[in-house]
Amino acid sequence: MQDQPGIPEEHVGPTRKAYVGRDVIVSFDGERCQHAAECVRGAPAVFDTQRRPWIAPDGASADEVIAVVGRCPSGALRVSRVA
Ligand code: SF4
Repeated sequence: MQDQPGIPEEHVGPTRKAYVGRDVIVSFDGERCQHAAECVRGAPAVFDTQRRPWIAPDGASADEVIAVVGRCPSGALRVSRVA
């Protein structure tokens, strides 16, 4: 597991990786993902599987990122605002 100090607990897990942006932290658990592609369809500038890192939390407004993460059917994605 990658050590990510300072990351809120909800974004930490053995198969979860956090991506820290200016306004939001997005995290992804590859074990949970059902490849429904709601994320890449909903916010292609944020979620791009061809790019590394594939999640760019600053690619859209915080509200947009939060809305798209809310459509993830599997719980693979989580988002919280940067305090
Ligand atoms: S929306 Fe969720 S389940 Fe679908 S591909 Fe994205 S992370 Fe995976």
